[in-house]
Amino acid sequence: MHLIWLRSDLRLHDNTALSAAAARGPTVAVYLLSPAQWLEHDDAPCKVDFWLRNLGELSDALGELNIPLLIRHAPRWDEAPQVLLKLCQQLNAEAVHVNEEYGVHESRRDTAVAETLKAHGIDFFSYLDQLLFKPGTVLTKTGTYFQVFSQFRKVCYERLHRSLPGRVAKPAVQDPLPISSDDIPSSVEGFETPSDSLRQLWPAGEAEAQRRLDTFADAQIDYYKSERDFPAKPGTSQLSAYLAAGVISPRQCLHAALHSNQGEFESGKVGAVTWINELLWREFYKHILVGYPRVSRHRAFRPETEALAWRDAPEELLAWQQARTGLPIIDAAMRQLLETGWMHNRLRMVVAMFLTKNLLIDWREGERFFMRHLIDGDLAANNGGWQWSSSTGTDSAPYFRIFNPLSQSEKFDAEGVFIKHWLPELAGLNKKDVHNPANVSGLFGVADYPSPIVNLSTSRQRALAAFKNLPSRHDAGGAHE
Ligand SMILES: Cc1cc2nc3c(=O)[nH]c(=O)nc-3n(C[C@H](O)[C@H](O)[C@H](O)COP(=O)(O)OP(=O)(O)OC[C@H]3O[C@@H](n4cnc5c(N)ncnc54)[C@H](O)[C@@H]3O)c2cc1C
Repeated sequence: MHLIWLRSDLRLHDNTALSAAAARGPTVAVYLLSPAQWLEHDDAPCKVDFWLRNLGELSDALGELNIPLLIRHAPRWDEAPQVLLKLCQQLNAEAVHVNEEYGVHESRRDTAVAETLKAHGIDFFSYLDQLLFKPGTVLTKTGTYFQVFSQFRKVCYERLHRSLPGRVAKPAVQDPLPISSDDIPSSVEGFETPSDSLRQLWPAGEAEAQRRLDTFADAQIDYYKSERDFPAKPGTSQLSAYLAAGVISPRQCLHAALHSNQGEFESGKVGAVTWINELLWREFYKHILVGYPRVSRHRAFRPETEALAWRDAPEELLAWQQARTGLPIIDAAMRQLLETGWMHNRLRMVVAMFLTKNLLIDWREGERFFMRHLIDGDLAANNGGWQWSSSTGTDSAPYFRIFNPLSQSEKFDAEGVFIKHWLPELAGLNKKDVHNPANVSGLFGVADYPSPIVNLSTSRQRALAAFKNLPSRHDAGGAHE
């Protein structure tokens, strides 16, 4: 008997570990519920709910192949070795198969599981699946992890020219086993069930993920470069939640993009090339997580920025979290996050810069808040995005290039369509005032909307001074751990 231990790979198609297990013999699947660990990792309730809903779909799909899906409890991951050992002994399993995960805790957990199983004569096989390239295989000439995205991408391109990562075949139907699947719980303690309206935005299952990918690749990818920065447009794939939970694989995404671009990834149609570039950013940040583990311990990639005098401003932090900053583009974006579990990429950068530069609040506060609300919350991408925006990260925005939320708003939501959708109280304003209702005075002032909590120009100067005053701005190069 073989056991496939499912984690962030909740799909049947192109699932390396699942297909490998099934190719070796009768297979049983297991998923561990780890609420205490998830709370510690700030996993969002809507994300946990998305996992459970996808498990329900996957259980049905596995059932058609006669692969039972079992549910076990390991509240914290340090309990995983014993829980899995017990299950293997019950099933008389000879091996456990997993797809690799890359955080520090995930790696430590998998090492402990592998050791425990091996001590009892049970094999543990792990496979590359979540990424196109295994971390540690895309390195500089001196053998270190890349810190600059464009150089990393160049090597990825060379590798893709040599060989494209192929998709694996779905497992065949196996003979029925005398084991029935467990019920998938509809909720897990500690994680509130999200609203129906949020759930409906993110239907579970591979069919939905594939539908999104097909629609995007057929109808939208050609316009991706020109439309991806406008939050009022459906210019991006909205696949991040599915990629993060592994309901679709990066290989499936890559092949769909290649198919729409005559097999080209660095030339041809600019939309497809730009989208593949984003898949490679996803790749880059996961490699950074492995190469520089300090980033998954809440430490800045650039050590000198640890000395920054972040402000302790709980009320301003709360106003940002609750969409009450008085800056419409910020508040509209935060409402989108709170109500949908997702935020447009342009706005993630804008609200992150605003928090870390204009409010000069530690990026870790924003990182945690995002993680607690995002349905696509992913340690590597979230940390990478926050450290990019706060100029503490690898290849990040230079500290003196501070986005002005008003200009960003005028440029990327010129008509105020996005703002008015999320802030109906501003619906009556014209397309100039909607970006800055503070300009509207007297009788026509906007009664229900707060004044800005910060002056954009003086707060910008304050941030510049704080960064300028850092002890030294030496390169973090080679600071390997
Ligand atoms: C502060 C901040 C926090 C972020 N947190 C997350 C997060 O927790 N999880 C997450 O998946 N993305 C995160 N991102 C990256 C990006 O905003 C989202 O991946 C994107 O908005 C998802 O929408 P989409 O699926 O329509 O993307 P598309 O534009 O269609 O891109 C396709 C896929 O590429 C990947 N991708 C795109 N942009 C990036 C990027 N900059 N970094 C890494 N991967 C990327 C995602 O998997 C995405 O689904 C963050 C960005 C910032 C600035």
